[in-house]
Amino acid sequence: MGWFDGGDEQDERADAVGRRYAVAGRQLRCAHCGGEQFTGREVPLGSRTSTMLDTEWLAAGAFAMTCATCRAIQWFAVQPERLDA
Ligand SMILES: [Zn+2]
Repeated sequence: MGWFDGGDEQDERADAVGRRYAVAGRQLRCAHCGGEQFTGREVPLGSRTSTMLDTEWLAAGAFAMTCATCRAIQWFAVQPERLDA
């Protein structure tokens, strides 16, 4: 496809253009633009925040997946599986 789909890219470049991920067996797509490239990072959430929001399942942290195209963020309580090795 694009010039950046070379295959053996360095991680720092992958952080810029994103990677493909799957959650629960379905490929992650951006809810806003339909993009398939995301950058992900784990966000530790303190127990105080979890108590305030009544979301104790978030106490261990969550995963923020940022669309590489439009920068919309989708949250997951499980770590998305990276499809690009
Ligand atoms: Zn998007």
